[in-house]
Amino acid sequence: MKQIFDINQGFEEKLEDLTLNVKQIQDDLLEEILTRNAKTEYLQRFLVNSFDKEHFKKNVPVVTYEEIKPYIDRIVNGESSDVLSARPITGFLLSSGTSGGAQKMMPWNNKYLDNLTFIYDLRSHVVTKHVSGLKQGKGMMFLFTKQEFITPSGLPARVATSSYTKSDYFKNRPSNWYYSYTSPDEVILCPNNTESLYCHLLCGLVQRDEVVRMGSIFASVTVRAIKFLENSWEELCSNIRTGHLSKWVTDLGCQNSVSLVLGGPRPDLADTIEAICNQKSWKGIVNRLWPNIKYIETVVTGSMGQYVPTLNYYCNDLPLVSTTYGSSETTFGINLDPLCKPEDVSYAFMPNMSYFEFITMDGDKRDVVDLEDVKLGCTYEPVVTNFAGLYRMRVGDILLVTGFYNNAPEFKFVRRENVVLSIDSDKTNEEDLFKAVNQAELVLNSSDLVLNDFTSYADTSKFPGHYVVYLEVKAKGEKKKYLELNEDAFSKCCLVMEDSLDNVYKRCRFKDGSVGPLEIRVVRQGTFDSLMDFFISQGASIGQYKTPRCIKSGKALEVMEACVIARFFST
Ligand code: AMP
Repeated sequence: MKQIFDINQGFEEKLEDLTLNVKQIQDDLLEEILTRNAKTEYLQRFLVNSFDKEHFKKNVPVVTYEEIKPYIDRIVNGESSDVLSARPITGFLLSSGTSGGAQKMMPWNNKYLDNLTFIYDLRSHVVTKHVSGLKQGKGMMFLFTKQEFITPSGLPARVATSSYTKSDYFKNRPSNWYYSYTSPDEVILCPNNTESLYCHLLCGLVQRDEVVRMGSIFASVTVRAIKFLENSWEELCSNIRTGHLSKWVTDLGCQNSVSLVLGGPRPDLADTIEAICNQKSWKGIVNRLWPNIKYIETVVTGSMGQYVPTLNYYCNDLPLVSTTYGSSETTFGINLDPLCKPEDVSYAFMPNMSYFEFITMDGDKRDVVDLEDVKLGCTYEPVVTNFAGLYRMRVGDILLVTGFYNNAPEFKFVRRENVVLSIDSDKTNEEDLFKAVNQAELVLNSSDLVLNDFTSYADTSKFPGHYVVYLEVKAKGEKKKYLELNEDAFSKCCLVMEDSLDNVYKRCRFKDGSVGPLEIRVVRQGTFDSLMDFFISQGASIGQYKTPRCIKSGKALEVMEACVIARFFST
């Protein structure tokens, strides 16, 4: 495997170099991308003869995925890569996407994995600077591989993590602690995610004394793994006792490799684990089952912040370490202060990953500035030009500059742009929400009710979180003074709204169970006027006031909650 730099030497120097020379590295990187790709159809459309930064910024448009999609689709359907990229596109990454939850397909090549392994090496270095006693241990990492599909062009389309686990970069990874997992590779590569999760837990329990870190890419998965353990520890213990893996795990790779990890009957170990799991309270269960664990490695920023209380409960306040900010377009950067509190996490952008620009988000004027020109305390949406044929593509995240590591800006993840509701990987924007409410309105109308106004809220106070839609309704016709709230009609409204939401929502809600049933809270008449009064009292202009379609401020929520007269859930 190509080693980006020596694993034991030069990390500190490399980090210093990267963060001190941000502008130079970014300029060189852009020059490399433009020189290499000068002959691509896409760049030829905007640039003639001059392929320098100035012309690039002047002539190449900042685009959304939708605008570049027709070019990507042509390659998906078999045209040559050089529509977009001189370096062959060897696959596509399926991103969770935000455009109505439809999955996006990002052009991909090995440069993505070069960058990713560089980031893995760097973050292992950063963590060892802050946490001792890791080097002899293993990670119990809930890593999975999702089945890929083949595009008409014959290229694989898969999620970013699977592009790594299915590659030689994973197969031939270095043998240091950061890449040592309690699970054999066969478990990580198993296409059945339930079998894989069971085996991850089994292998992690058998090697419980060796585990120094545990986690997953996003926190929702670690929480799901612990819940799964809660339901299956008796069976897991029985497997450890007998030395045999349960028969329902049919994947041959798992069967063979896990038997070796089990290494025969271990009744004493099974007794110990059983005694721990049998205790009434599961508070701190992770610390008790894995006594040498030092930290939980998983992203708890952005929409994953909702899992922090649950993780704190099970992990008795072990550090929750969000290491990386990345996407299917590129990896952006890493958290250089890994032990900070979840709410303080920022990511320092690494200038050797891609060429980064930023759309200013404060005020009404939108400018595009370079990485080295972002200002402390300002918010931006990043724009990416990468090595796989994306030029000036908007990412759709909103980030806040919180500081600098040398000259490298550090960003806090604020929110996804245009997403009003998000519990897990679901991302519902205003448009989706409107469509859903329109469906509910039809049901209301047929029950002689009229919709006055609506707003929504992602309620994550309990696990799993769920969507709350506040509706203010009145009776049709002037004569009817009394509001009759027909349970059947409102239950139906919940159903039609859920039915109208996108596939990612439906998967989280009905398959994964990571989103709970949608709830309608009916509010009394006049509530939305009170809400408007509230926002005006906070400085909003009455002439420009628009009902917020999702409530994020606690005070505004109090206004709504004080007016709730009935609640209905999706069944
Ligand atoms: P995908 O392209 O499906 O991998 O999704 C990438 C998106 O996930 C990013 O654009 C962010 O919205 C979100 N994301 C990735 N990493 C983080 C992080 N560390 N904190 C918060 N959100 C993240």
